[in-house]
Amino acid sequence: MNTPSNPGPVPAALAADLDHARALDRDDPLAHWRERFWIPKHSDGSDQAYFVGNSLGLQPKAVAPFIEEELAHWRELGVAGHFRGPRPWMTYHEAVRKPLADLVGAKPAEVVAMNALTVNLHLLMVSFFRPSGKRNRIVIERQPFPSDRYAVESQLRFHGLDPDQCLVELGVDSKDRLVDESLVEDYLREEGEHVALVLWPGVQYATGQSFDLARITAAAHAAGAMAGFDLAHAVGNVPVALHASGADFAAWCSYKYLNAGSGSVSGVFVHERHLDRDDIPRFHGWWGCHADRRFLMEPEFTPAPGADAWLLSNTHILSTAALRVSLGLFAEAGFGALRRKSLALTGFLEALLHKHLGERLQVLTPTDPDRRGCQLSLAVPAGREAGRALFERLEPNGVVADWREPDIIRVAPVPFYNRFEDCWTLVRHLQEGSGTG
Ligand SMILES: *Cc1c(COP(=O)(O)O)cnc(C)c1O
Repeated sequence: MNTPSNPGPVPAALAADLDHARALDRDDPLAHWRERFWIPKHSDGSDQAYFVGNSLGLQPKAVAPFIEEELAHWRELGVAGHFRGPRPWMTYHEAVRKPLADLVGAKPAEVVAMNALTVNLHLLMVSFFRPSGKRNRIVIERQPFPSDRYAVESQLRFHGLDPDQCLVELGVDSKDRLVDESLVEDYLREEGEHVALVLWPGVQYATGQSFDLARITAAAHAAGAMAGFDLAHAVGNVPVALHASGADFAAWCSYKYLNAGSGSVSGVFVHERHLDRDDIPRFHGWWGCHADRRFLMEPEFTPAPGADAWLLSNTHILSTAALRVSLGLFAEAGFGALRRKSLALTGFLEALLHKHLGERLQVLTPTDPDRRGCQLSLAVPAGREAGRALFERLEPNGVVADWREPDIIRVAPVPFYNRFEDCWTLVRHLQEGSGTG
């Protein structure tokens, strides 16, 4: 189905909305940010309508020259690059600490950039999933991102526990597939004495629902369990207040809304109350040593203060360089302004979908803007085949969305680089593809 289709003439009702979309783009105070990113091209040379920034954020134009500078330092300085040049590699990870902490509402000492997301989930579970006696269960949401499920399942087995007994997946069979926090609260009230850890998403990747971290944390703590969060779909997308939520730990990746490139360095949060303690197990490596002692090559491990004690290895400079650039853009644009545009953009897309597709598409994502980020997840009530056929019309028309089995089309208008007109283009092709266009 990858032959270009020939879109028909635009129906009058849609044409009026195109004018509206263009007016919104003209009035958008953040519209110029799009120029700071590389927008992939459709086969006809036009910009793609790119709706998958929730999967891989687009490349900021400033990344390549910044990385080239690091390559030049390496070329010219060799190993001296650790200590010399404008941005010595020895302390490179420290530069992203404050901007990352700002984005997730943490104190700087609580945050460090390292490794990749799933690796970090494991490392954090080494510290914070400590089953003992009958308190040996991990609670996750039903149908989580598979990597998280594999991680918790393997952690249980590592401790000699049976996932059939100890892995609890909470969900309901509702039409919209949303999960109210009360489900977690109810479970913990009943079974809390068996629960060691609740590992929950900030924003659920399939439905786009965002969660109240403080409420889930409070329920976990009341039951005597730890609360950890996977913020892969939350960071850079929704406001997050990790420290205030009381969460024990969190981790996220930097290649979705943080636009730092595929596989780029992850971030972790460990709550202040767990820092600088010697009664919490950790896996150690030399970069977690106190900076004053790191190069003394001593046999004894002297932990760095704060979350840095969880560091294992020397910094991945090239991906951290990309993250530095990207976090600089967030600081410059201001997360508050990005979120305001995000609310407008997603609200506009939602209204267009209701108006032009009505019952032919079901928006699974909560309608309350406080319960979602920019992503909308669309299910096709006519079934998987109809949904798949609709989805497959998008790409030949320069619209990039993604498909999640069994029947979800996910679209994420990202405030940094998506236009209101992109939303219109998406709706136009969905409408044509759903039979009445
Ligand atoms: C994107 C994503 C991942 C990916 O994990 P990596 O270790 O970065 O490959 C894991 N979990 C969730 C919830 C995600 O959204």
